[in-house]
Amino acid sequence: MAGRAWAPDEDFFMLDTEMCEGFADNATIKPLYVRLVFAAYARANDIGHAEFEPGELSRILGEALPDGELILASRQTVYSALQQAEEFGMILPGSGVRCIVLPNGFRRGGRDRKCFWHKVGLDRRRRRPRQRP
Ligand SMILES: [Zn+2]
Repeated sequence: MAGRAWAPDEDFFMLDTEMCEGFADNATIKPLYVRLVFAAYARANDIGHAEFEPGELSRILGEALPDGELILASRQTVYSALQQAEEFGMILPGSGVRCIVLPNGFRRGGRDRKCFWHKVGLDRRRRRPRQRP
C-alpha cells in the first residue's frame, strides 16, 4: 500500500523538499534557526529525525561569497540556532548537529523509521556499542 493513512480528523499540508532545501541554503533568510528548521524538514524521515553528517549543518547554514567561496557557519553559530529553534519548540530537546528531531506534528511518509544517531528503530545488534577487534 502506498502512503500512510493518518487519522481522519487530522489536518495536514505538504511541503516540497526542494523548496525546503532552498530555504535552508538561502543565506539572506534570517534568523538562522529558520534555515535550520527547513534543513530538518527537507531531511527528516517518517519519525521526524533528520540526520546530518559531521560538519554538514555548518556547510548548509554557511554563506556563499560572491566569488563562490563558502564560509562555513561556526560551531557556535550552529549551536545557537539549534538552541533558539528548541526554545520555540520548533525542534525537540535531544536535537544536535548530527540529528535534529522535529515535534510530533511533523509526519512524513515513504522514508524510513530509523535513526542511527539516536539509535531508534535499529535491530538489537546495532544498538549495542561497537566491539573493538
Ligand atoms: Zn535522530
